[in-house]
Amino acid sequence: MSLIVQKFGGTSVADSQKILAAARKAIRAQLEGNQVVLVVSAMGKNTDLLVSLASEITDRPSAREMDMLLSTGEQVSVALMAMAIQSLGHQAISLTGAQIGIKTDSTHTKARIKSISTERMQRLLDEGNIVIAAGFQGIDEDFNITTLGRGGSDTTAVALAAVLGATACEIYTDVDGVYTTDPRVLPEARRVERISYDEMLELASLGAGVMHNRAIEFAKKFHVPIRVRSSLSDSLGSEIGGNVESCTQPVCGAALLKDEARISLLGVPDVPGTSLEFFSRIAARNVSVDMIVQNVGEAGKADISFTIPSNELRVTLEAVAEAAEVAGVDEVTHDERSSKISVVGLGMSRQTGVADRMFRALADADVNIQMITTSEIKISVLVERDSAQKALSVVHQVFELDKQPVSAVSQDQPVDDVGPTNAADVVDRLRGVDMEELTIDDIQLDPTQARITISGVPDSPGMAARVFEEVAAAGIFVDMIVQSYTGRPDGARLSFTVPRQELDESVTVVNRLAASFNCGGVSSSPSIAKLSVSGVGLRSHTGVAIRMFQAFAKAKINVEMINTSEVRVNVVVDGKQGEQALANLQAAFADVMR
Ligand code: ADP
Ligand code: ASP
Ligand code: MG
Repeated sequence: MSLIVQKFGGTSVADSQKILAAARKAIRAQLEGNQVVLVVSAMGKNTDLLVSLASEITDRPSAREMDMLLSTGEQVSVALMAMAIQSLGHQAISLTGAQIGIKTDSTHTKARIKSISTERMQRLLDEGNIVIAAGFQGIDEDFNITTLGRGGSDTTAVALAAVLGATACEIYTDVDGVYTTDPRVLPEARRVERISYDEMLELASLGAGVMHNRAIEFAKKFHVPIRVRSSLSDSLGSEIGGNVESCTQPVCGAALLKDEARISLLGVPDVPGTSLEFFSRIAARNVSVDMIVQNVGEAGKADISFTIPSNELRVTLEAVAEAAEVAGVDEVTHDERSSKISVVGLGMSRQTGVADRMFRALADADVNIQMITTSEIKISVLVERDSAQKALSVVHQVFELDKQPVSAVSQDQPVDDVGPTNAADVVDRLRGVDMEELTIDDIQLDPTQARITISGVPDSPGMAARVFEEVAAAGIFVDMIVQSYTGRPDGARLSFTVPRQELDESVTVVNRLAASFNCGGVSSSPSIAKLSVSGVGLRSHTGVAIRMFQAFAKAKINVEMINTSEVRVNVVVDGKQGEQALANLQAAFADVMR
């Protein structure tokens, strides 16, 4: 018998009428011949309410007690949902995370799922029950209640779908699918029929709050097909699955992360091991660093900029101050009022002229770009928070995201590599591994590129647009782009990589522009090595960058550039050290290679 997991978010169970409506959807799915597992969130804004209650008591509540508190929201919903289904004449039973046997690690408020037992759920389903699981919670080895992080009910739903071998995982929410950007922020956003795992993974972690990013990691790892649907209608919603391009446009979506804080370390000694000093202390406080932009040094000193969620600024600055004592940096600057705008699309990995279109749109709207980081399928820029909404709007427009694209795949055709894998296979794969463990698929060395760096880029709109327009006009394919920011008037440092045979031409273009913009200077290196580590969980596991930095520090390899995405971390080192760096990375990640 097929099995369906349906998840209802907070707004979809906000009152008794909505709970009854959700109950009817579940009953309908059962009457259609499926076994049904429901995952529910806390009612309405209940979790927010609990958070603010805690803050009335203390501004530093213990994480364990926060979990004890927050998990009660879901417990209310599951009980009411079971009563609703029973009142409609059907069998139902509610279970907390602990009762199901969702085992997690002990990282309170951001716990990761280690394993899930299926026996009890399966027995209850076989007895004819609709099983109602509390979202977002689990239990650690010592029976402490844990939660998975805000929005984590999506992750519970997809994880249950994976272990139970569900044929579908339906996420019911207050929008009727995945949009090109948050429709509440930009009304012209358009619903997409389909989106690939990697695109959704990037978008979710870059600010598209419609799905918890760890839910997509699960879905990708265990091939769970997801449908995001409205709890208010019967429309089909959007499908998330596969890794095929769903449209012919280079960009499929844009996202805004409003509450970012930037920290810049200026005049960092350009020697191996310095980054490790900082990032290991930050990771020890469980802060996930978002954009890391490290730029090649000058006169033995480098700059490193990175962003973190604004609400983690204080604890991060503490870690930074500690590390700065040891590493001896010249200055630390920070800015609490930044926002990040990103565009995502599988199509951009093969096209030139995507970055320059984005930068041009921003320049024409008079938006200053503070930091830039790219990966194969995304470009992110950091801007001042006051200009974030305008920035999102012009970027959405320049990539014509409001217009229906020509579909690259027929809508009737099932998406490649989506579909339930055999349940036994999945359970087999899960035996003995932590479900949310980091997995690395591949580590590669690309010795064919060269680097160009422009220093002292003026802190005003337009420079990046001109550089990448002219480079694109010369037909040169730019791969990595990083721009770090100092917070000082002498502005930013911009580095990018191009194929080695196109270095001379690129330098000519850049020299001309740097002179007309009054930049500090241009340097380049014909001999760099780019190392890429790809897999699942790269960014949500704070330890990945640390492992890389450790591996390099041990071998005395200096990192010249770095950029990170959900599925890949790229670093550039001196070309002579490429082979050595590859060997060190392979050793550092040997235990998580799949
Ligand atoms: P739930 O409580 O059902 O989990 P969420 O509030 O977590 O609901 O997620 C739904 C919201 O996500 C929508 O109301 C919408 O404002 C927001 N959102 C952000 N980005 C997107 C996007 N790209 N597509 C659709 N919705 C988005
Ligand atoms: N109730 C939790 C939250 O508000 C989990 C969820 O809704 O996904 O974050
Ligand atoms: Mg949600």
